[in-house]
Amino acid sequence: MTTKQAPNTLQKMGLNSPMALALHLPSRYEDGTELATIEECLVQGRFHSIQTQGVVIRNQALFRPRRQMLVTIEDDTAILQLRFLNFYPSQQKQMAIGAHLRVRGDVREGFQGPEMVHPAVKAVAPDAPLPKSLTPVYPASAGVSQAAIRKAVTQALRESSLQDSLAEFLPKKLMAELLPSNDWPTLQSAITYLHQPPADADTQALLDRTHAAWRRVQFEELLAQQISLKRAHAIRRERHAPSFSDGKRLNSLEDRLLKVLPFELTNSQTKVWGEIASDLSKAFPMNRLLQGDVGSGKTVIAALAAARVMEHEFQAAIMAPTEILAEQHYLKMMEWFEPLGIQVVWLSGSLKAKEKRLAQEQIETGVAQLIIGTHALIQETVRFAMLGLAVIDEQHRFGVRQRLEIQQRVGSELFYCHQLMMSATPIPRTLAMTYYADLDVSVIDELPPGRKPITTKVVKDGRRDEVIQGLQSWLSKGLQAYWVCPLIEGSEALQLQTAVESFEQLTQALPEFKVGLVHGRLKAEEKAAVMAAFKTNEIQLLVATTVIEVGVDVPNAALMVIEHAERFSYAQIHQLRGRVGRGTTDSVCILMYSEPLSIAAKERLQTLRETSDGFVIAERDLSLRGPGELLGAKQSGDAMLRFVDLQRDAWLIELAQRAADRLLAEHADIVGRRLERWLGSRAEFLKA
Ligand code: ADP
Ligand code: MG
Repeated sequence: MTTKQAPNTLQKMGLNSPMALALHLPSRYEDGTELATIEECLVQGRFHSIQTQGVVIRNQALFRPRRQMLVTIEDDTAILQLRFLNFYPSQQKQMAIGAHLRVRGDVREGFQGPEMVHPAVKAVAPDAPLPKSLTPVYPASAGVSQAAIRKAVTQALRESSLQDSLAEFLPKKLMAELLPSNDWPTLQSAITYLHQPPADADTQALLDRTHAAWRRVQFEELLAQQISLKRAHAIRRERHAPSFSDGKRLNSLEDRLLKVLPFELTNSQTKVWGEIASDLSKAFPMNRLLQGDVGSGKTVIAALAAARVMEHEFQAAIMAPTEILAEQHYLKMMEWFEPLGIQVVWLSGSLKAKEKRLAQEQIETGVAQLIIGTHALIQETVRFAMLGLAVIDEQHRFGVRQRLEIQQRVGSELFYCHQLMMSATPIPRTLAMTYYADLDVSVIDELPPGRKPITTKVVKDGRRDEVIQGLQSWLSKGLQAYWVCPLIEGSEALQLQTAVESFEQLTQALPEFKVGLVHGRLKAEEKAAVMAAFKTNEIQLLVATTVIEVGVDVPNAALMVIEHAERFSYAQIHQLRGRVGRGTTDSVCILMYSEPLSIAAKERLQTLRETSDGFVIAERDLSLRGPGELLGAKQSGDAMLRFVDLQRDAWLIELAQRAADRLLAEHADIVGRRLERWLGSRAEFLKA
């Protein structure tokens, strides 16, 4: 194989096979196909990078004011100065007087007239031919030269094994029916084109990745992803899971739970519960996402699902990404299920060794019926006696690794348990169609009755005193409030410090009220104590870092002040703001910002003031940050589609989806192996 001789650095970049090299597509191109005279270059080079050539007539090394080399070249039309800082002796030799140089760069006005600073330089024969295709510029990591990548790619493109892996397998007839036009190149010619576009190629379309050659590659990537997800879907349906039907019986656990609830389900809750109950009655594992805006009442649906499963003497587990959130669930479930005689057990990483062992024992022996906790629940040491349902709250907040672990844990040798994920972050359609294609989605699209809309105000931090005055009259009415301090990127200590400062200031300014402080450094039981005191109104004002971001539920706290709101993302503010507006009082959220504001931050605050629609906010968020963060896959670029941009290429997704259906139905034999090769190890990430 060619790449055996390739330097180590290429291997490190993952460029270890002809296929990997072929798919390492250029990020841009240099046009070396045209040559300007120096005279032309002196004019046009001021607007864009340009190529010219000439003979060296002067070469001067300077050491003051700093080490540099000045080289002058000349052709029949004019002369041009080149300036190099930090040059090597070898360069001095390459550019000795009399050498012919082909150079590319921008022309700037220097102290001594027009010059190119650090142009790309090649020593050539005076009559050396110009390349016929554009020169690709590849994504590279330090220590890997463009020349080395170009050489390796060129070799890879000639490998016969590659021709094989890239051979067209889409039936012509299918292509003709599906594709928008029939001038789409084959995969192989598209890839060759992208590595070596001809001189007259539409460079803008290449750069924008809207060129037909790009389209073909993007389509292939989406098709591979769709097929892999659809297969995961089919495989799930062949797996066995316990079926829990017929829960509606009089006096069933489910029935009794509905009776102890202090409210009626909304229509929307009833609808999604129907969907979930139907999944639970099937003999293959449920894989469902329950989506509903903050405060829409997802917890009770999780409880109903758990009740159905426990009725059949299986265990149910509810897992949340943070201790605070898990604890909220624990308290809620205790409130609802303890009176019904259910054994609810708490498990988190911060339990003392002895308590942990006890909890694990109860889980293992089946004494524990409903288990609530953090991701400690999926650790190796935890063995469930009969797990029938795993509920994962705010699942996107778990990392990709953790999500993979969850996937591995829910499938045991005996059976796969049912899985219900819950999230307040709406998944935009494009994401739902790609990464989440093997997921059934239920949406709660109404809030429980009696909720008042939240009024959001945007206030400069210069008016902090006014805000504190307002806070005082608010608390005087017997209401409670949150004061949120921002995350400080990279410095937990600094974050803590600002939270402590605000806490002290507010304690002083509001002597007649009890102010509490909760932050990430507190021990679990300290955190729990503060939260409990806030819940029972012993504390009226809670100063907090973003640890309260999800799930906290105190209806009497209907005012939230967010300090340095400009530092928060859309999703964070939306989540935070969802903590208020849960009671019957009019709710207010004050976004305090300090100047200067970036344009993006200004727009963000304005949007947040104008809308509290989770879908609108999620779409804005996606367009701003890309899908990585929504997927919780920020750390793992691998999980992403490489060539597809979900916004730009949305229309292609539908096409790929239709093609995948047709291929699987009509040509199942040919699709499998070839597409796995395309996805390689990324396939498993896609399912997480
Ligand atoms: P989220 O969807 O954000 O997890 P929760 O499940 O925490 O929302 O519910 C928010 C609040 O609404 C809780 O206090 C919950 O008890 C209450 N709630 C849920 N469903 C209803 C309902 N149908 N009617 C009234 N209140 C409800
Ligand atoms: Mg919740």
